[in-house]
Amino acid sequence: ATRNLYLGMDFGTSGARYAVIDKQGTLHAEGKREYPQILVTNQMDWASSWRKTLLLLLEDIPNSLCPLIASISIDGTSATTLIVNSKTGEPLCRPYLYNEACLEALEAVKSVAPENHTVCSGSSTLCKLVSWWNSHDSDRDSAMLLHQADWLLWLLHGKLGVSDYNNALKVGYDPEMDSYPSWLLSQPYSELLPSVKAPGATIGYIKEDIRAQFGFQKDCVVCTGTTDSIAAFLAARATQPGKAVTSLGSTLAVKLLSTKRVEDARFGVYCHRLDDMWLVGGASNTGGAVLKQIFTDEQLEHLSEQINPSEPSPLNYYPLPAIGERFPLADPNMQPRLQPRPNSDVEFLHGILESIARIEAKAYSLLKELGATQVEEVFTAGGGARNAQWIKIRERVLGFPVRRAVQTEAAYGAALLALKGSEQKTI
Ligand code: ADP
Repeated sequence: ATRNLYLGMDFGTSGARYAVIDKQGTLHAEGKREYPQILVTNQMDWASSWRKTLLLLLEDIPNSLCPLIASISIDGTSATTLIVNSKTGEPLCRPYLYNEACLEALEAVKSVAPENHTVCSGSSTLCKLVSWWNSHDSDRDSAMLLHQADWLLWLLHGKLGVSDYNNALKVGYDPEMDSYPSWLLSQPYSELLPSVKAPGATIGYIKEDIRAQFGFQKDCVVCTGTTDSIAAFLAARATQPGKAVTSLGSTLAVKLLSTKRVEDARFGVYCHRLDDMWLVGGASNTGGAVLKQIFTDEQLEHLSEQINPSEPSPLNYYPLPAIGERFPLADPNMQPRLQPRPNSDVEFLHGILESIARIEAKAYSLLKELGATQVEEVFTAGGGARNAQWIKIRERVLGFPVRRAVQTEAAYGAALLALKGSEQKTI
């Protein structure tokens, strides 16, 4: 049989998903698993739970499809870090989760890294590494750092010590030079760092035991992954410079494909490499969380239907769920503004949706001011994407076409990476 299917798996914050696609991007199967609770001395054993989930997802894939899968990739949450034994791959301690802060290591990291570098945040992978290094004298010689996606992929291919430059950004990897910087390599703990490839690069063939257990073919390859938010961007298939994805979930996050690298720590604007392009992103605190405080999903739908999207709303709000904004305005003391409230809820909602659209427009114009490629088209993901009136309001305010993304699952994006890897098959 021709092997023409590609498997992506997403290990997100609340659970894991898989997607099987073909070359055209058509979905052949997808599924979801919650992380099972596995306790060790009353603490969640995340590594065992992820491993179990990986095997459960592989089991969930229809048996008839596994022999047709040519390649596999996995994304994980950014900065979720494992320190493992460099020979056996078994974790030497419990994983450091994506949002966990290792503030005790921050001063040491700041003393070696350039000012305002991504690693200068308590939850960065490098702070986690330094924290581990400073509290473990004995295992240092036999330790290795892996990101969540790297470790899960290792369970499939068995070659220890491979990562991708999206996951490795927060440990200090320089995606422009395509190497670890010298300030990092001169540290004793740099011995623990994995080697780095592009996302969606082939690592090796699937391990024999996994292959036999689930019915994959011998030449099924395993490819490097990426982070969950990049995988979600990839899912929208915005593949040219000027294409962007706005995620309207609890917050408003924008990501734009750019030919130029732009970063600005003041606004929390960061930049990931995607082959010969850059994925520029920023996140505002405005978004669906404010809508949720005021309206139910049913009310949102019902009221939105009564809005005339071609008419501008005169109401000028700055909807925030709490004090403080980072992007596109950096002001930790910014007050939420939702006054005056008109008698009509339709007008009120119109004003909020229009104001969030203005913040989105400001977000894209700030990215342009910082040097990124001009936006041409915006795809939308998240709960707000289902609102047709809002899409029309946003088109008018932004001044470029806005479309709902067809695919938004990170697992679908990971499957696209697997497809990419199979096309450049060189092991
Ligand atoms: P999360 O970031 O929590 O994953 P989701 O992508 O699930 O968020 O989106 C949920 C948000 O979408 C909620 O905050 C909700 O207020 C908003 N939402 C739901 N329905 C609509 C709608 N019809 N129009 C605009 N926003 C909506």
